[in-house]
This record gives sequence, C-alpha cells and structure tokens, in this order.
Amino acid sequence: MSTMSQARTGSDVLLDVRGVRKVYDGRGRSVEAVRDLTFAVDRGELVCVVGPSGAGKTTLLRCIAGLLAPTGGQVVLEGTPVAGPPPGMAVVFQEYGRSLFPWMTVRGNVELPLKQKGLPRARRRELVDSALAAVGLADVHQAHPWQLSGGMQQRVAIARAVAYEPHILLMDEPFAAVDAQTRADLEDLVRSLWQRLGVTILFVTHDIDEAVYLGQRVLVLSSSPTVVLDDVRIDLPAERDQLGTRSSSRFAELRAHVFGQIQRAKDEPRFQP
Ligand code: ADP
Repeated sequence: MSTMSQARTGSDVLLDVRGVRKVYDGRGRSVEAVRDLTFAVDRGELVCVVGPSGAGKTTLLRCIAGLLAPTGGQVVLEGTPVAGPPPGMAVVFQEYGRSLFPWMTVRGNVELPLKQKGLPRARRRELVDSALAAVGLADVHQAHPWQLSGGMQQRVAIARAVAYEPHILLMDEPFAAVDAQTRADLEDLVRSLWQRLGVTILFVTHDIDEAVYLGQRVLVLSSSPTVVLDDVRIDLPAERDQLGTRSSSRFAELRAHVFGQIQRAKDEPRFQP
C-alpha cells in the first residue's frame, strides 16, 4: 500500500525538503525536535502531514515557511533554497483569531497582502471579490472579523491566502479550533478550492481521518525526534463527500494503516518501517 518517498528529480517538484533536522538549544539543554525529514511535493498536489502532538509538525512548517532556520538539511522551493519567507507562499494558521486584524473589515484583511505585493487597486478588488465569493463570504465583506463565527473567520483567513495567488499554500492544523460540522464544511472547501484553483497544498494535522479524507498523499511522521515513517498514496476517488467517503471500506483501511504506523512508532520508538 505504501511507498516511501524517493528523492524525485522531475521538473514538476515544487517543494523539496532534504534531510531537514532541527535541534532547539536553550538553557543548557538541547532538544532534537526533528531528526531527518526528506520528501518532495509536486506542483498541484494536495499532501497532508500527520503525526502525534509534539511530533515536530509546527517545527517542520516553520522551516518550510522560512520562519525558522533548520539545524541541518535544506528546504528548496521552486529550485531556490528557502532562507526567509518565500514570496510564492501563503500560510493559514490554526489561530485565526490572532491572524486577522480586528480593526480592519473582512475586505481590508484580505486585501492587505495584495497591497504589500504592490498590486494596483482594480486588480486587488478583482482578487478580493473572487476569493471572498470562493469561500462563500461575498456578502460580509464590510463586516469586522469579531462579528463573525470562528468558522467564518477561518474562511476569511483562507480567502486572504487564496487571493494572494500563492504557488504553495501551507495549512497548520487550520481547523483544530472549530466545531465538527464547521470543520467538515471547511475540509470540503479546501478540496474544492484545490480542485478549482490548482494550487499546491501542504496540510498539517494531528487528525488521521482528516489527513486521509483530504489528501492525495499522507506523510506519516514519527514522534519526536521526527522522521517520515511512511508516504501513503490515498487512492480514494477524487470526488469525496463526508458521508460516503468516510464510510467506505477503503477509507477504513487507509486510516487503519496510518493509525497502525503511528501507534507502532509510539510503542516502539525505534520502529522504522
Ligand atoms: P507539533 O507541532 O507536532 O505538536 P512541535 O514542532 O511544536 O510539534 O514540537 C516538536 C518538539 O520540539 C516538541 O518536543 C517540543 O517540545 C519541542 N519544541 C518546539 N518548539 C521548541 C522551542 N522553541 N524550544 C525548545 N523545544 C521546542
């Protein structure tokens, strides 16, 4: 079922994570959070990264986003080593409440990075309108974030990322703080945006079901110090729906496989598949 990712050299590789290691040093004690992560994401792929809490997912994501320098290894985006926040990347964080500016309208929040990009007013308007329409928020563009529910605020954060027209969209446990129904709706929104816009997505989550439901591939991380345990191709149909897909026997097999890998890695820390 699974194939460990091989170093790929094809021209369609967008993101190449090569032997990334991260050791945190502090107060005379060092923590090896990430030992050795190697994988590639092709242009247009939707890849999920799943691992238990403390597995180093946030550390990995910060290294990819250029917010943290790896101790060893390299992150290469579109052929260029990442040394700071790369221009073609947008990130959606879990904490939507802190990622939106409360004194700005929804429109103002979505437009801000486009101003920083130096886009002319007419183009900004076009991008903001179409991103808000894509996430179903066209009619609240004049509202302020605090007037919206948590799920709607996260839609604003997604619209902001999409309007930026990133080459790659990183999502760090973006739905961990919303209720189950909203979460299901947002998962479907991510898949439909991915299918319509063709953007490359790296989606990080601790939720195995979410990873299997969303991804074309699921990278399974070990506990810290982290390595990639498995790279599972999710051969579910492209058209997915919450009820049908999640109750299919293939979904159950895939989730059991991923769950088993994570359990074994927890029980036997030296386990390497
Ligand atoms: P996850 O996102 O999967 O929960 P993290 O990347 O947050 O995992 O953390 C991985 C490991 O690194 C954990 O053991 C955590 O305690 C440690 N860690 C994370 N950030 C720091 C830091 N700034 N200083 C020291 N240790 C850290």
